Amino acid sequence: VSSVVIVGAGQAGADTAAALRGRGFSGRITLVGEEEALPYRRPPLSKGYLGGTVDAGDLELLPASSYADQGIDLVLGDRAARIDPEERSVVLDSGTRLSYDRLVLATGARPRRLPVPGADLDGVMTLRGLADAAALREALRGTLREGGHLLVVGGGFVGLELAATARGMGLEATVVEVGPRLMARALSPGMSEHLRAEHLRQGVRVLLRREVAALRGDASGHVRVAELDGGERVQADLVVFGVGVRPGAELAAAAGLEVGDGILVDRWLRTSDPAIHAIGDCARFPSARYGRQLRLESVQNASDQARCAAAAICGDPAPYEAVPWFWTEQYATRLQIAGITDGHDRAVTVGDPSGGRFSVLCFRGERLLGAESAGRPADHMIVRRLLAAGGAGLSPGEAARPGFDLKEYQG
Ligand code: FAD
Repeated sequence: VSSVVIVGAGQAGADTAAALRGRGFSGRITLVGEEEALPYRRPPLSKGYLGGTVDAGDLELLPASSYADQGIDLVLGDRAARIDPEERSVVLDSGTRLSYDRLVLATGARPRRLPVPGADLDGVMTLRGLADAAALREALRGTLREGGHLLVVGGGFVGLELAATARGMGLEATVVEVGPRLMARALSPGMSEHLRAEHLRQGVRVLLRREVAALRGDASGHVRVAELDGGERVQADLVVFGVGVRPGAELAAAAGLEVGDGILVDRWLRTSDPAIHAIGDCARFPSARYGRQLRLESVQNASDQARCAAAAICGDPAPYEAVPWFWTEQYATRLQIAGITDGHDRAVTVGDPSGGRFSVLCFRGERLLGAESAGRPADHMIVRRLLAAGGAGLSPGEAARPGFDLKEYQG
């Protein structure tokens, strides 16, 4: 392999380039990104960056000089428009054609908007990239100045972090979630409830099992009111959709690669064309650990898959089996999730829930699936190690024993 093209200069793309060089790959690496900014970290966008405590410059994944130092050709502000798998080349919007021996698709995902009337009014936004975050930061400040009200549509992690940041700035905020609880895809019911209670305590209005039916604007076309199913009207001078993403699979689909809620890859993260890998938020992979296909949206997954693809390209392939983990920060709560707890049939809580420092250990049968830890970073690390060892070392009965201490499993 003498040339690698990476499409998407986000977390997974930039980490792939760095991992290739880290393994001593000496061929050509071209990293193509449609955004203008140097590759950056997204997690602070909904946290410190929006709140004004983190600047854009603090987000860069690698210092600007390191691309040239490591011989990584960075092409920014240009979009990969087409892949020609027969010819092994990629054509960019600018007309540039790049040939590859191996192509890595790291195209991330784009936020969805609900197709409700008024979704295109001024003041209706989404949050994915730095440009979105910069515009949203201005809009939050403007809304605060005018005594306006923020409506977050969707009780997932991006929406909840945004609501928490906005409350920290002093803004009035409502979260509308169609499901019966917050972060339902990622969290056990107990931890969802803990988060809901925290948002209520901080003064956020949380409406569950409710849907936005329409958004209504003023004479200038700026959103002012949301109509919910059932007829209730909620003040909404700024609306942010946090209703999930669509994986960036269009390029792959147009090239004839297999797709289906993401670009389909095998355990080595190869697409249906073995010269093309797909990694990060855009990739759907088979997980032996969880016995099903997964598409994960986390820094851990993007970085670990980048290393896995780089290893394969360097002739040292191994199946992707990293333990998934994730974190979110809302108010003073740092919530860490190890493993995937979805599908558990038994949850055991350890620690001090009333003091906000506890973990929920989630099992399916006798097997540990994962744990959610609020303010218990040591628990999180221990569970990650247990999961790496297969998750069979701790039974639910043992965890529920009086006086049980996870530290005994520190190893
Ligand atoms: P991205 O980082 O999205 O990068 C994809 C890049 O590809 C983008 O720059 C895109 O513009 C570019 N691209 C797409 N198509 C093309 C094309 N055709 N040509 C050229 N370029 C293209 N994860 C956590 O673990 N913890 C958190 O606390 C957390 N907080 C988050 C907060 C926010 C607001 C967001 C949006 C995400 C957060 N995440 C968090 C998720 C995490 O940031 C993502 O999982 C991670 O960035 C995925 O990396 P990626 O490289 O797959 O995609």
